[in-house]
Amino acid sequence: MYKAASRSCPPPVSEIGSPSPVKNQVRKGSNRRTATRAKPARLNGRIRVRRADFWAWTANRLTRGHGLVVVEGLKVGDMTAGAKGTIDGPGENVRRKAGLNRVILAEGWGGLLPALEHKARCNGCGIVRVPPAYASQRCWACGVVDAESRESQAVFACTFCGHTGNADVNAAKNILAAGLAVTGRGDLAAGRSVKRQPPVTVAA
Ligand SMILES: [Zn+2]
Repeated sequence: MYKAASRSCPPPVSEIGSPSPVKNQVRKGSNRRTATRAKPARLNGRIRVRRADFWAWTANRLTRGHGLVVVEGLKVGDMTAGAKGTIDGPGENVRRKAGLNRVILAEGWGGLLPALEHKARCNGCGIVRVPPAYASQRCWACGVVDAESRESQAVFACTFCGHTGNADVNAAKNILAAGLAVTGRGDLAAGRSVKRQPPVTVAA
C-alpha cells in the first residue's frame, strides 16, 4: 500500500544538494520492507531445521553403532556463553572454519548433547561426560601434558615422545580413555576392550 512521504513540501534551499532524508529510506509497513524482513527469518528457520536434523542423525548414528559414547563435559557457563564458549575450554576462541559441520557442531553443541542422551535411551547406549581438562594438551601416546605440544590448531606434536597427529583426534582419544576409565572397562582405550558389551537392543 502506498503511503505518502511524511514531508509533503519541498526541502528548504539550504538542504538542496544534500541527499534527502526521505529518499532511500524504507517506509515502515511497506510491502517491500515486510518481504525483506521475512527473508532472514525464513533463512534462520532453515538453519534451525537443518541443525536439529543434524543433531538427530548424528546422535542416532553414534548411539546405534556404539555401546558407549564419551563426550567432553562442558560447563553450563561455557555453553551459555554462545559463540565465546568453546569445546576446548573457556577463554579460547571458537574455531570457526569453513566446514559446515564444524559450524553446526560448534554452535550446536548444546543441542547435540540432549539429542545424544535421548537417542541413547532409545538405542541402549551409555553416555559418559568427562571433564575436558588438558585433553587438548595431553599426549595420547605418552600422557605428558605440555601446552607446547599443541603445535597449531590442527596439529599435535608431543614435545616429549615425538608423537604427532591431528590435534582433535589426539584430544578425542584422551577423552575416550578418560571415559573408559570412568566406566571401569579398564583398558584405557589401548585397542578394543575385551570387556566391551554389545549394545542392548530394545525391541520396539
Ligand atoms: Zn608424547
